[in-house]
Amino acid sequence: MPTPARNVTVTGAGGQIGYALLFRIASGQLLGPDVPITLRLLEIPQGLNAAEGAALELHDGAFPLLRSVEVTDDATRAFEGVNVALLVGSRPRGPGMERADLLEANGRIFGPQGRALNAGAADDVRVLVVGNPANTNALIAAAHAPDVPRERFTAMTRLDHNRGVAQLAAHLETPVSSVAGLTIWGNHSATQYPDVFHATVDGRPVNDLVDETWLTQTFIPRVANRGSEIIRVRGGSSVASAANAALDHVFDWVNGTGDAWTSAAVASDGSYGVPDGLVCSFPVRSVDGHWRIVQGLEIDSFSRARIDASVAELIDERDAVRTLGLV
Ligand code: NDP
Repeated sequence: MPTPARNVTVTGAGGQIGYALLFRIASGQLLGPDVPITLRLLEIPQGLNAAEGAALELHDGAFPLLRSVEVTDDATRAFEGVNVALLVGSRPRGPGMERADLLEANGRIFGPQGRALNAGAADDVRVLVVGNPANTNALIAAAHAPDVPRERFTAMTRLDHNRGVAQLAAHLETPVSSVAGLTIWGNHSATQYPDVFHATVDGRPVNDLVDETWLTQTFIPRVANRGSEIIRVRGGSSVASAANAALDHVFDWVNGTGDAWTSAAVASDGSYGVPDGLVCSFPVRSVDGHWRIVQGLEIDSFSRARIDASVAELIDERDAVRTLGLV
């Protein structure tokens, strides 16, 4: 029996991350090399030309797995029957914009998208929010989709995770494949906490291999502020690495992680004292198509303080969108 096609929707598909994502999705790197894809590209009216252009180029790629590409500015149409939704388009913070304005502007995007997902998505829909503030945008979308299990709404911290793995590997002069057990906790923001206390390199505890000064003064700030470093050097925000991380997140979610764990922002079930329902980054394994928070890790006071600080920021964001009536 041929594998049925899966419906994949990308919002903000005319943007930079969209452009870095679409061709890799079409080539099978999102769901696997045997899974046919139908693509829907959602854009706001000003972004439609860019998305149409990408659709023409996708056509020219003659990708064997790509069954069809449709461009639309109608969220209802975009999410009808969707199996995987990559919510990339969001409202960037403009000059002089307060956080409440940013959250409100994004509420106007992610609220209706949540409603459209609720109305039309496939039963097995998986949603990954990339557009910032990603954790809280996922919270807003989930709040507008009461019929979709909340575990299906996730936000991306995989880029932060990958950055942490790469920094550690470079520092210890070892291949990235030797590194395991790193965790990003909290918000996808500069308050995130990249935690190496359970990490290993070729089975050896990282704790025995790095000193605290490097950890606190180099590693943690470098990972948390890597986005700004990229902007400074490149003259624009990270694009291809963000798209790469989105592919990693969905691929692992669908295909499983085995014993290894990674990081993803998922709805808290109260684990590690994170208030229930907050979309928070945790150590996670993907088992039978579901993210499972890794349980039972010991959290010392150093880590606890940093996790609490990032969770406090998520609580503030949640309270702000509550006040705005968005959740
Ligand atoms: P990008 O494609 O570069 O970025 C899209 C979003 O991803 C931004 O919100 C950005 O947040 C976020 N992001 C998350 N993680 C990262 C990361 N590590 N590095 C960089 N960005 C990250 O933006 P463009 O402006 O090129 O494209 C956005 C597109 O979205 C536009 O075409 C616009 O028309 C569209 N749009 C579509 C909507 C819809 O479909 N309904 C709604 C709103 C916009 P940050 O800004 O904080 O970096």
